[in-house]
Amino acid sequence: MSKNDLNLVVSQLKPDTNMFHQAVADMAHSIEKIYDNEPSYKEGRLFERLFNHDRTIKFRVTWQDDSGDIHHNTGWRVQHNNALGAYKGGLRFHPAVKEETFQFLSYEQTFKNALTGLPMGGAKGGADFDPKGKSDKEIMRFCQAFMIELKSFIGRETDVPAGDIGVSSTEIGYMFGAYKSLTDHHQGVLTGKDPSYGGSYMRAEATGYGAAYFLRRALQADAKSVKEQKIAISGAGNVAIYLAEKLTQMGGIVVSLSDSTGTLIKNNGFTSQDIKSIKKLKFDNKGRLGDHSDYNIDAEYHDGKSPWGLCKYDIAAPSATQNEVDEAEVKAITKAGASIICEAANMPLTRKAGEAALKEKIILLPSKAVNAGGVAVSGIERTQNAMMEQWSAERVDENLQTIMEDIFDECKRHMPDQTSPDRYIHGANMAGFRKVANAILAQGIIN
Ligand code: NDP
Repeated sequence: MSKNDLNLVVSQLKPDTNMFHQAVADMAHSIEKIYDNEPSYKEGRLFERLFNHDRTIKFRVTWQDDSGDIHHNTGWRVQHNNALGAYKGGLRFHPAVKEETFQFLSYEQTFKNALTGLPMGGAKGGADFDPKGKSDKEIMRFCQAFMIELKSFIGRETDVPAGDIGVSSTEIGYMFGAYKSLTDHHQGVLTGKDPSYGGSYMRAEATGYGAAYFLRRALQADAKSVKEQKIAISGAGNVAIYLAEKLTQMGGIVVSLSDSTGTLIKNNGFTSQDIKSIKKLKFDNKGRLGDHSDYNIDAEYHDGKSPWGLCKYDIAAPSATQNEVDEAEVKAITKAGASIICEAANMPLTRKAGEAALKEKIILLPSKAVNAGGVAVSGIERTQNAMMEQWSAERVDENLQTIMEDIFDECKRHMPDQTSPDRYIHGANMAGFRKVANAILAQGIIN
């Protein structure tokens, strides 16, 4: 594939309306910088091959609600590439997902997994099922029905799914139970399990804590520390809350958390006690942040607002969902005084928002590096399952810190320069692409 072929693929992309195309265009922009010097990548048509997923599995999931009514949803598993190891990536249950969502997420997952240095390919899947407002029994029946379909396509050496939005250790437990019952195998076919039956300690914390370790390293590279930095975080789920917890432990001042209904602001920073109460509200009681006063959380609530224009801060850490930040919100982020956007959610900026941030010289820390801690600990969970061991939380956390620091160093090593605000994006893309590309080339011309 010549550079012109790469340009041809890029010219057919629609990055403003299709998130998969946005992710591919972003990668192309970085790869352009190495393609001319790597004839084997061109000849192997690697960019074009990686544009096409290995396979997309689509199925119907039929389930019964508590009153006996029958419903059906659509499920998917998109297996992008397994050159580095068995497919690995989360399952998402959310009413807004479609095939394109999993095409984008699985493409990103391949390069993210490569950055961890662990032997994992990339995949992603889930269903357009909305767990909100469903009873625990309904969720269990849905998970069982989903696994009846998925079981034929996964396995501990072929494809090992985990959780994502709408899929916590509860849903993983129901799916694991169904897999075990259907196959008679108690094996590490899913990660994100509860530690009581083969899960890893620290898996729940891993993505948020890992993002904090990456951010700490990035600040250190500019002779700064987390201490006294004001950080605005969006989201109040698994990633956002554990990111807030770790940054607070490091001495950072976390000024916001948000959910799909509104934002909590605390200008002098949430305390550890506030974060504990927010966990109770969101994790245990599945409530809304608007109910904060029932949990003695002393903060201002802004109904229906995102955090970006509500206070001053140094770092924005979007941690809710993809494309949550648009151009107008980048203006608000700039006005708030931020010089760094730390992408803890997957691709949280629209393409235009990314361009606007770079124009403002805001440093972008890319999601495929920042939030790789979750899949890294999933990889560590597989290692523990294979060794029939359970490691202590401290040992897992130490491994996580090392992996996140190595990812940072790897991005830095591949950065085309030391000053441009998109240097970490190019560093992460080049490092991830090279690892996958070299593995594909080494395995010959085969599907
Ligand atoms: P959760 O479902 O636990 O939390 C998501 C949070 O974001 C919730 O508070 C939710 O609000 C809020 N939210 C979702 N959509 C919107 C929206 N459109 N506007 C405003 N708020 C919204 O998900 P996770 O924390 O697990 O995942 C967050 C992001 O991180 C996703 O991009 C995910 O793919 C990525 N990620 C997650 C990993 C993990 O290990 N969990 C690993 C790597 C990446 P509400 O509470 O009201 O539902």
